[in-house]
Amino acid sequence: MSLTNLLDLLPVEIESLVESLGAPRYRGRQIADWIYRKGVTDLDRMTNLPRELREALAERASVDVPAVERRTPSQDGSQKFVFRFADGARVQSVLMPDGDRLTLCVSTQVGCGFGCAFCLTGAMGLDRNLTTGEIIGQVLGVVRTLPAGQRLTHIVYMGMGEPLANYRATVGSLRLLTDPQALGFSPRRITVSTVGLVSAIERLAHQDLRVNLAISLHATDNETRNRLMPVNKGFAIEELLAACRRFPLPFRQRMTFEYVLLDRVNDSPEDARRLARLLEGIRAKINLIPFNDWPGAGFSRPPVPRILAFQQTLLERGITATVRWSKGEDIGAACGQLSEAVVA
Ligand code: SAH
Ligand code: SF4
Repeated sequence: MSLTNLLDLLPVEIESLVESLGAPRYRGRQIADWIYRKGVTDLDRMTNLPRELREALAERASVDVPAVERRTPSQDGSQKFVFRFADGARVQSVLMPDGDRLTLCVSTQVGCGFGCAFCLTGAMGLDRNLTTGEIIGQVLGVVRTLPAGQRLTHIVYMGMGEPLANYRATVGSLRLLTDPQALGFSPRRITVSTVGLVSAIERLAHQDLRVNLAISLHATDNETRNRLMPVNKGFAIEELLAACRRFPLPFRQRMTFEYVLLDRVNDSPEDARRLARLLEGIRAKINLIPFNDWPGAGFSRPPVPRILAFQQTLLERGITATVRWSKGEDIGAACGQLSEAVVA
């Protein structure tokens, strides 16, 4: 029988597991405390548990934090982590310091099946989904490497894969991140980025998770979006934005719209004006991402004045629009540059 990864379970589920082994439920809380507060993942080192319980537990469960196969620092202070799982699959996570923020970008799938034309992960295709434990394992694996006193402040689901296409594992990992008995993050410090899966956005609306949502929009007309993002043929722009309008945003929270700027493809002044009109009536902010190049991409980044002009058009219409000058470009860790191919 294969062992249960305790990182797949909520603290309350660990309580039920120990109860099924004949121990009182509070032992489960002690285990969660070792894993998430003390960073101890070896059952034998959980010294306040009776030895019989540790032994019984070891026959059923383990705590699997994936191995860091490689860690590459960038000139700008960010770091790319390559994690390798037991079956040999690899994903990347990127740690990005920025002022008093320390953000970790996690992956949810090995590869991605959505095939967005500008994205290197998309070019890989989908290998498999990650489990809840494999998503949380990236967080624990990175936290272990932080110097004493340093803490992660933000988590973004913007690594490899489409989080909402791996819905169960993603939601499971969000529950662990926000559970006070586990990692205890404020949901406001967590952002899930999606290609725009309308049905899953609707489902997420009913979960009461209160995490931030980022929508990868990237085009202002269906013809262009169909070409850039095949998912648009299933969920067109109007339908996607209707779902965004219905999404119950917590008080003072705004939805982020990501917009990759591709030279002469979606970066005209007319595009900027259309984008502003499309988002009318949505509490939105726009994150402009100048395209990050990769070999064979077939797109290029607009010149800086064109990027700034696009932003200016939005600002003039009263829309918050920031430009994400990418981190980790030199180490292939910027948005859309994550793939196994660049690791080898
Ligand atoms: N699958 C999710 C999350 C991962 S991608 C999604 O698509 O939203 C995180 C962001 O990087 C997305 O907005 C994605 O469209 C963008 N991106 C992908 N390739 C890029 C590239 N080459 N340059 C800049 N941004 C890119
Ligand atoms: Fe997948 Fe997101 Fe890349 Fe599109 S942009 S291929 S959804 S990871």
